[in-house]
Amino acid sequence: MSINFIYPEYEVVRNEKRCIKCRACERQCANEVHSYDQEFDCMEAQESQCVDCQRCVTLCPTNALKIVKTNNRYRENANWQQQTMEEIFRQADTGGVLLSSMGTPKDYPNYFDKILINASQVTNPPIDPLREPMESKVFLGKKLNKLEFDENDELLSEIPPQIELEMPIMFSAMSYGSISENAHKSLARAATELGICYNTGEGGLNQDLYQYGANTIVQVASGRFGVHRDYLNAGAAIEIKMGQGAKPGIGGHLPGKKIQEKVSRTRMIPVGVDAISPAPHHDIYSIEDLRQLIFSLKEATNYKKPVIVKIAAVHNVAAIASGIARSGADIISIDGFRGGTGAAPTRIRDNVGIPIELALAAVDQRLRDEKIRNDVSIVVGGSIRNSADVVKAIALGADAVYIGTAALLALGCHLCRTCHTGKCNWGIATQREDLVKRLNPDIGSRRLVNLVSAWNHEIMEMMGGMGINSIEALKGNRLMLRGIGMSAKELEIFGIAHAGE
Ligand code: SF4
Ligand code: SF4
Repeated sequence: MSINFIYPEYEVVRNEKRCIKCRACERQCANEVHSYDQEFDCMEAQESQCVDCQRCVTLCPTNALKIVKTNNRYRENANWQQQTMEEIFRQADTGGVLLSSMGTPKDYPNYFDKILINASQVTNPPIDPLREPMESKVFLGKKLNKLEFDENDELLSEIPPQIELEMPIMFSAMSYGSISENAHKSLARAATELGICYNTGEGGLNQDLYQYGANTIVQVASGRFGVHRDYLNAGAAIEIKMGQGAKPGIGGHLPGKKIQEKVSRTRMIPVGVDAISPAPHHDIYSIEDLRQLIFSLKEATNYKKPVIVKIAAVHNVAAIASGIARSGADIISIDGFRGGTGAAPTRIRDNVGIPIELALAAVDQRLRDEKIRNDVSIVVGGSIRNSADVVKAIALGADAVYIGTAALLALGCHLCRTCHTGKCNWGIATQREDLVKRLNPDIGSRRLVNLVSAWNHEIMEMMGGMGINSIEALKGNRLMLRGIGMSAKELEIFGIAHAGE
């Protein structure tokens, strides 16, 4: 047997004075880290299996546990750091592609943190959101440049189909299969209560969730899992997924062990068989092909549903978005490279794509320059972390944002980044029945409602501070933003002045 070169990343620190040997940690850990040794009447830990999901720490009744990152170091240098060396050891062991979950942990610039928001002083006074009317509602879809009325002032123009949202936040695409039924139920119920939308992802729509259709975006991806006429007509809008921020240019892979009975029925594939989504849609090789799919979907839904085209933020994203806006899409969704995922090749996740902030600024400007900005709404996602990120994204030109990782954190996710193993101890990224039961959809949806309501309140406060009383007035209002610590080129792409100017 070959030697395992990799030293455990985490150490389990158990305070023996506090530990009452209740074995709750042993029962809670799907990675089988904890065990009870009868002979010596003590708890033991297999640290090499620990992923630092914090489940045992949270549920230990006496606060006896701590998980700490090991301070054992290999002999690193500036080029060969611990993680780089471990990745080499791992690939030398298995010969396989390295897999990871969630967004990239790499230290690329986060431009949201280099952008500051304005506030009114003296002239143009601020607005108090608690005492004065503020509008957080948004409509996503094609906008007409001119409205026509008859002699009785009745509207003659036909308004293209829209998604109506009570606030400019939606839950991003996460498929049933990659996340659990209870996670999907939590998202669907919360979206309904908030008057926003959640997104099925590429895994089809579980029969039990058809009742939330008015708040559901149904996705059509390259694998076409679970796509049929009723599915297309069940939601408020249809999203064609061309790309995903965490893994631009490649397809998806849901391991067979996550394809249980109900997932298989929903996806319309056999139990236990790997669900592979190809990298391209095999019927799309041009904007003209995309147009055909958009109009096939519109035809199948009687032209009543807006169609979203989702792409990953990549180098020539503005030109791609311009093509999509001309293809008949109603909404473009752009996913930045810090976006989360259930599983992605590590090398792709950490090196391919661009930050959503730059992509958004470039796309909005290009569509304005080409005078087609009203032809599409723009929705962005890819690590929107708080209400200030939402405000900055809207001022850079977004109509609304998608949140994924933040929503999972509200459900209990502790970002252990091992969703691809299917052993999520928080009942989110798993199909194991005993684990799924740990997430109560009543509690999950309440926590999501709390999170988004709190963000919406903060958005109203920031808008009030700027003297702005509607999301529509904030949209693309780059005068409200200033850059800090950015190069002249970066400021030029963002179309904003430096702080102090
Ligand atoms: S859950 Fe806490 S108290 Fe119970 S056995 Fe584990 S460490 Fe000890
Ligand atoms: S969803 Fe679960 S497995 Fe995935 S990162 Fe969060 S806690 Fe870990």
